[in-house]
Amino acid sequence: MKGIRGRITFTYMILIVVTLLISGVYILQFIERVYMENLKKTLIDEAKIVANWVSPYMVTPDSSLPFLAEVSTTVNSSTGKRITVYDRNGKSLYDTHPGSVEESAVKPEVQEALNRRIGSETRLDSAKGSNSLFVAVPIVDGETVQGAVRVGIPLNPVYKELGNLWVSVGISLLAVAVISSVVGMYFASGIARPIEEITRVTRQIARGAFTERVRYRSQDELGVLGESVNLMADRISDQFEDLTQEKSKLEGIIASMESGVMVVDRSGRIQVVNQATKNLLSHSGRSLLGQWHWEVGRSYGLSSMIDEVLVTGDSQRKEITLMSPADTSVELYATPIKGKNDSIVGAVVVLHDVSKWRRVEQMRTEFVANVSHELRTPITAVKGFAETLLDGALEHPDMRRQFIKIIYEESDRLSRLVNDLLELSRIESGHVVMQFEPCEINELVRTTVDKLVHQAGQNGLVLESHPAGQPVYAEVARDRVSQVLINLIGNAIAYTPEGGRIDVTVEDGVDQVIVRVKDTGIGIPQDDLPRLFERFYRVDKARARRSGGTGLGLAIVKHIVEAHKGKVWVDSYPGRGSTFSFTLPKRQGDE
Ligand code: ADP
Repeated sequence: MKGIRGRITFTYMILIVVTLLISGVYILQFIERVYMENLKKTLIDEAKIVANWVSPYMVTPDSSLPFLAEVSTTVNSSTGKRITVYDRNGKSLYDTHPGSVEESAVKPEVQEALNRRIGSETRLDSAKGSNSLFVAVPIVDGETVQGAVRVGIPLNPVYKELGNLWVSVGISLLAVAVISSVVGMYFASGIARPIEEITRVTRQIARGAFTERVRYRSQDELGVLGESVNLMADRISDQFEDLTQEKSKLEGIIASMESGVMVVDRSGRIQVVNQATKNLLSHSGRSLLGQWHWEVGRSYGLSSMIDEVLVTGDSQRKEITLMSPADTSVELYATPIKGKNDSIVGAVVVLHDVSKWRRVEQMRTEFVANVSHELRTPITAVKGFAETLLDGALEHPDMRRQFIKIIYEESDRLSRLVNDLLELSRIESGHVVMQFEPCEINELVRTTVDKLVHQAGQNGLVLESHPAGQPVYAEVARDRVSQVLINLIGNAIAYTPEGGRIDVTVEDGVDQVIVRVKDTGIGIPQDDLPRLFERFYRVDKARARRSGGTGLGLAIVKHIVEAHKGKVWVDSYPGRGSTFSFTLPKRQGDE
């Protein structure tokens, strides 16, 4: 009875039953009344007939008694009713039910008849032993009342008949009730079915099944309701689709961002975090969603900043250094997320790794310091010796020659330094136009080596080239590659003690040529290898300066090789020598 269907059926049935009961009772009462009145009327008519018949005999009642008896018995036998004839005093002259105890008092209905009126009464008939209806009429002769005739009928058969009527009416009403209930249930289901369908569909939609639709179609209010629900579902579905798309777009943007993004809720739990944040905080393999921000932040600065934003609602910007990975400088920008009434519901933190820029800045500062330092040494020497000459050394031919030689050497060094610096900056800035042309590498190596064999010999060294078994062609800027070889072989000559040897080998690879410059020199400690190709980096500063190096040779090598899309590296052991190798792609753009 909880659903609409039950309620409609129940109400309908109650309505039917109550209506049928009230109308049934009313109809039955009406029938009963009409029936009783008809009965009474019949009895009165019968009594009047008897009264007419017996009227002439009432003058001498005693002599007419047999006739009275005959009339009464005839009427009684034909109607089954009790007939009683009374004289003018109310004394019973004849009764169709002899043996019955005659009442002493005059009955009210008889009294009425003796008073020239029609009397009637329903009461227990002592003669019949059941309720009876009595009707009495006067026997008149002209103006005088001669007596009265009373007709009585037992009501039991009447009651029985009426009872039967009640039963049949009751059965009819029950049948009507059953039929109406069936019709009512059908009617209820007609109303309830669409309501139930609409309810089911709205419930499904509320649970997220936006494809569900009401299939009930009609012109009535329920049809309109169903249509509205469908329209609403369309709207929600479209909006949900839009939202999903927006969300995935946003997720895509956040995921692909190079900067770290982290969103925390009011309580400090992480709601959104991208891979860049995880990488930055060294949590690559972990899911950080739902964790507290202070558990994953590798720096007190990060947590305190988020807390401050959540409390004050003001955006914050600062740079912190993470504890792990060490020396990582991160620029943080945290801003609050505001909800209704400007309440703070969370915070967004953007993390930007600025370590690279910090290193670049540091390198720039170091570079300026290095350049100044490198320039100062020869300038000081030139200035010092020139002063000494001016102060009088010019007068001494030996000293003069020696000092001017030093001044020449230092200015030469200065010039090389400036040239190297210029060269490097031109290569770095991309201003050097490299003329790539097909070139046979064995030949290029041999030509360059030949130029330096004499210099090597002067230093007591053997310099040899070892070409590949067959010609090897690569597209290179000939002069630049030659420069690379000159720098590498020049270093090998400078850092290999007398009696050593230098071998320059060409190896033919699948896609590339490998050129190696191997010496038996002093070697380089492992710790210095990673920084060897940096500008001005020298392993042994005093020795390098004595060798006349500028500290820029390997930096230039690296730049030229990389401009050819090749690689350069070194294998070296202190005391055993070094091997510098570089590759050149056989065709440009292959590597
Ligand atoms: P420099 O002009 O001082 O030689 P480079 O850039 O050419 O500068 O080399 C950097 C440093 O690398 C040198 O100062 C030297 O300490 C070291 N080095 C380079 N080549 C060799 C080598 N073949 N053997 C030992 N040390 C070397």
